Amino acid sequence: MLFTNYNNQSDKNNQEFRVKTNDILRDVRKNGKEFDWRGKKIKNVYYADLLRMLHFTKADRVNGCADELVFKVTDEGFLTLHQVWFCKSKLCPLCNWRRSLKMSYQNEEIISEAIKQQPTARFLFLTLTVKNVYDGQELNDTLREMTKAFNRLIKYKAVSKNLVGFMRATEVTVNDKDNSFHPHFHVLIMVKPTYFHGDYYLSQEDWTGYWKKAMQIDYKPIVNVKAVKGKTKKKDDVKGAILETAKYPVKDSDYLTDDVERDAFVVDNLETGLHRKRQIGYGLLFKEIRKKLQLDDVEDGDLKNVGEDEEEVSESAKMVYAKWNNTRKNYFVK
Ligand SMILES: [Zn+2]
Repeated sequence: MLFTNYNNQSDKNNQEFRVKTNDILRDVRKNGKEFDWRGKKIKNVYYADLLRMLHFTKADRVNGCADELVFKVTDEGFLTLHQVWFCKSKLCPLCNWRRSLKMSYQNEEIISEAIKQQPTARFLFLTLTVKNVYDGQELNDTLREMTKAFNRLIKYKAVSKNLVGFMRATEVTVNDKDNSFHPHFHVLIMVKPTYFHGDYYLSQEDWTGYWKKAMQIDYKPIVNVKAVKGKTKKKDDVKGAILETAKYPVKDSDYLTDDVERDAFVVDNLETGLHRKRQIGYGLLFKEIRKKLQLDDVEDGDLKNVGEDEEEVSESAKMVYAKWNNTRKNYFVK
């Protein structure tokens, strides 16, 4: 039978963790949702195949990502990841899923603390773009220029005087019409309430002008800015809207589409473009809070402990071993 958890059963005392050899792994979370290990691993194998085709030496390493999973079983019958090896490749669908869980968890902590410290502050969502680029090297150079420009932008007096904290995420989308790449920054900005007072307010036009100046370009870049608002003014609604804008920026659906030729082209260029690039950056108050809370690096840090439903389990807790079977395309309990 399949792995099931028993927290809803009436005879809790009699519950027994029933999971047998050759069962298909199922990892149902406390909130009732199921972790899609299989779906992510299938994509990981496809990504590794593309890397092999492109003669990347890391292909085998990527292929071994989360091949074997060791879980401990909590008292309530849930699985908690105990041992695993992740490849940490930039585009790995398994690793990026773990990074996104970790980032959501951390952002919740950071934003809660920031609001606690400065309850009257407001949030903006800023998108900074440049012209599309056509290959990986150009992408890499452009991202470097954008990072430099961003650091200039936040130092401009008009920006810095109301700036409290920021979180910057780098996203690169693909335009299939002309095979170009669109690098852009999504920035969540926390500002003092005075930002909205008369002279201090920056319009979209103002932000566009400052970004153009910071990028030192001769065309008008597309910039978008909006205040983050909840559906209602309730605190939780506003916080929900803030967190919604601050998600991990890599979506595997952008580069793993099953069109092998197209995906190989995209992966090849993104590997070059994102090489040694950090895609997440925190600044000012958010950075201070990260330090205070001792939050681990989202991109290169530990991907086993992502803060999601983590519980202490006893030394003697039961273990579940699962291994990926590439012929049968699933994880099976050993
Ligand atoms: Zn991986």
